[in-house]
Amino acid sequence: MPSLAARMGRARPSAIMAVAETAKRLRAEGRDIISFSIGVPGFLPGEHVYQAAREALARDSGAYGSNRGREDLLDAIRAHFARLGLPGYAREELVTGVGAKHLLYSLLEALCDPGDRIAFAVPYWTSYRDIADIQGLEVDLLPCPPEQDYKLAPAQLEQALARRPKVLLLNNPNNPTGMVYAREEIAALAAVIARFPDTWVICDDIYNGLIFDGVGYHNPLHAEPGLRDRVIVVDSLSKTYGMPGWRVGFLAGPRAVAEAVVTLNSNHITSLPEVVTAAAVAALSGPQDLSQRKREEFQARRDRVLAALAGLPGVRCPRPQGAFYVFPDVSGCFGRVHRPSGRRIASDLDFCEQLLASHGVACVPGSAFGEPRALRISYTVEEARLAEGLERFRRFVSELG
Ligand code: PLP
Repeated sequence: MPSLAARMGRARPSAIMAVAETAKRLRAEGRDIISFSIGVPGFLPGEHVYQAAREALARDSGAYGSNRGREDLLDAIRAHFARLGLPGYAREELVTGVGAKHLLYSLLEALCDPGDRIAFAVPYWTSYRDIADIQGLEVDLLPCPPEQDYKLAPAQLEQALARRPKVLLLNNPNNPTGMVYAREEIAALAAVIARFPDTWVICDDIYNGLIFDGVGYHNPLHAEPGLRDRVIVVDSLSKTYGMPGWRVGFLAGPRAVAEAVVTLNSNHITSLPEVVTAAAVAALSGPQDLSQRKREEFQARRDRVLAALAGLPGVRCPRPQGAFYVFPDVSGCFGRVHRPSGRRIASDLDFCEQLLASHGVACVPGSAFGEPRALRISYTVEEARLAEGLERFRRFVSELG
């Protein structure tokens, strides 16, 4: 058999999906499994979205669509960015894609050649690492440990940008930590970015509708509007609009960058489907109160999860202010023995494996995100299951001796 491309030797399937698959298998075997593993928002969009999709289906033209995105969708995206305090984008500065993940892949292809350097903070969303590896980029990992609340410090960014990466990738609110940069923190990072004009900046802000405690959404462009010629903002309907399976992502950036991604679209996906486009227009242009309600609900859940983790011996959790994840540092439990099974917990992998085996709770080990001291809990499961899962988590930790 001929060989696969060398790049596939660097490609890994998603570690998060692997945990979800194990949980699914155990469930199929009849085990009562509570999955805190997958990053889906756990709610569906309003009826107006489905209505728009049904109407589009009834009127189906059967044709290919625009490589950039249909004009009414681009206008809805423009209005969306204006609501986020980023007004004035022209249609030519926007592009749609099959989810933020697809656009991030295309963006890196459009901006980087193999061997170019890309810098991002650790913990990182798994696909940043995987996409960079597949594309043969040199990854510059910027450690942001729990002691610094998992956030990038301006001095650290300064050092990283002095190494002249082609791309800096920022993620706010963050997956897996749920951390959010406050206005002054973003402003400090933006001031550093402004001093390094040779680096593109990709802001993956897809959780921007899920920010708690009145912190608000802040982007480097709010602080430094002059950065528009090299900052690209990536967004998506997946998380805030409860539409991960509809696969709608979009970006705003300099014309040349948008044009490059349109060219990639024309050779790759061609366009979003008509029905999906209609649903996306409805989601962005219709009532926005669902995201608002979900934000309040998730904030209350965040509080419940933090309360459940507080005081557990060996567990320490910086306080997240967005998305729907908490990322506790469980390294204080390493070296202990799970008394009922006799298994020693030496790592995040052991912790998650034993928690799943003994109590049927699935979490994603922090090493999937580059931080092996922690694990990720996604708290979008239904209320009763969340409470039950947290109680099982507590019992598990109490069994470590
Ligand atoms: N960026 C981050 C930080 C994510 O957490 C995810 C999904 O989990 C994505 C991008 C991809 O989102 P989409 O569903 O729009 O492809």
